[in-house]
Amino acid sequence: MKTHAAVLIPGDGIGPEVTAAVKRVMAAAAAPVDWIECQAGVAALKAGQDVLPQETLDAIERHHLALKGPCTTPVGEGFTSVNVQLRKRLLLYAAVRPVRNLAGVPTPFPGVDLIIVRENTEGLYSGVENQVTDDVVMSMKVATETACNRIAHWAFRFATRRRRKKITVFHKANIMKMTDGLFLRAARRAHHSDYPNIELQEMIIDAGCMKLVQNPTQFDVLLLENLYGDVVSDLCAGLVGGLGVVPGANYGDHHAVFEAVHGSAPDIAGKGVANPLALLMSAVMMLNHIADEREDEPAHEAAERIKNAYNSALQEGQKTRDLGGDLSTEAFADAIIQRLH
Ligand code: NAD
Repeated sequence: MKTHAAVLIPGDGIGPEVTAAVKRVMAAAAAPVDWIECQAGVAALKAGQDVLPQETLDAIERHHLALKGPCTTPVGEGFTSVNVQLRKRLLLYAAVRPVRNLAGVPTPFPGVDLIIVRENTEGLYSGVENQVTDDVVMSMKVATETACNRIAHWAFRFATRRRRKKITVFHKANIMKMTDGLFLRAARRAHHSDYPNIELQEMIIDAGCMKLVQNPTQFDVLLLENLYGDVVSDLCAGLVGGLGVVPGANYGDHHAVFEAVHGSAPDIAGKGVANPLALLMSAVMMLNHIADEREDEPAHEAAERIKNAYNSALQEGQKTRDLGGDLSTEAFADAIIQRLH
């Protein structure tokens, strides 16, 4: 069977625990992937390397695929986020986070099925901060026509391919008329010029957040700039059971890095209780990406096997603590492996 090389970054905190569990499930499902393990984050620093080692970047550039555990970023001081660096250096400009209900995970709203598309390279994440005077610090929100057009077209193309009906842009263009205005106008232009097949809805983000928690089933695809996408991703995770169940992908024109929405969860790291499902679902997204881009049926079959197995496990009440169960990370991985057919 043909196999595909993919970089595996265990990351920090719960990262090594959840990546180990995912590796086991992928092997048991005969997923056609050969892992090339590389370091990033605090783990790389501890090993005497850069926080984002050049050899890790080189490996992703060579193989075009990576599955990444979460990396810790110091708050209010220290190095720039590894995640942000990685997305910028590899030009992974589109982050995609599917947010869906899972059978066996009861939530206030059944029928949630929305996809977040987040611009991944600029906005308030551009990292341009200045000390202006002793009293004043400033953070620059950057929007470029290039990046706004790129993400708008990507989102409409993606929605069309996935047979989605509507894109809702969350913005604050009433206040940030230039930056959010540019983002919004790019979406309008892409819609009018090339994608009249998809409905375009515009919503000021504060009202959008209220509507999300009142009835998330009214949304289909959400298109957001960087920081809004970050915040709204966690909000949406809360609608379907929490950060343990929302996967993600970062796409560019040449490379794709798959990672869960959650972080390194220092509060539970090392305890063996983290839910590996979000990273496993991200690995399933990677298998489907391989299947689509490289026309590889075994990758698609492995993805389906894993999906069916975790769905049966959840439906039979096999869950980790964050979902109200009592299984450890490893025991949940075992429950999935037992249900692989
Ligand atoms: P977090 O996502 O790590 O944790 C938030 C809460 O959710 C915690 O209570 C945690 O225990 C819980 N949680 C998260 N993932 C879980 C899982 N798989 N199973 C069970 N519970 C889970 O967010 P945070 O605490 O704000 O951030 C911790 C660190 O992670 C920070 O350094 C942050 O910068 C980093 N971070 C990294 C990424 C990434 O690598 N892509 C994303 C977000 C945050």
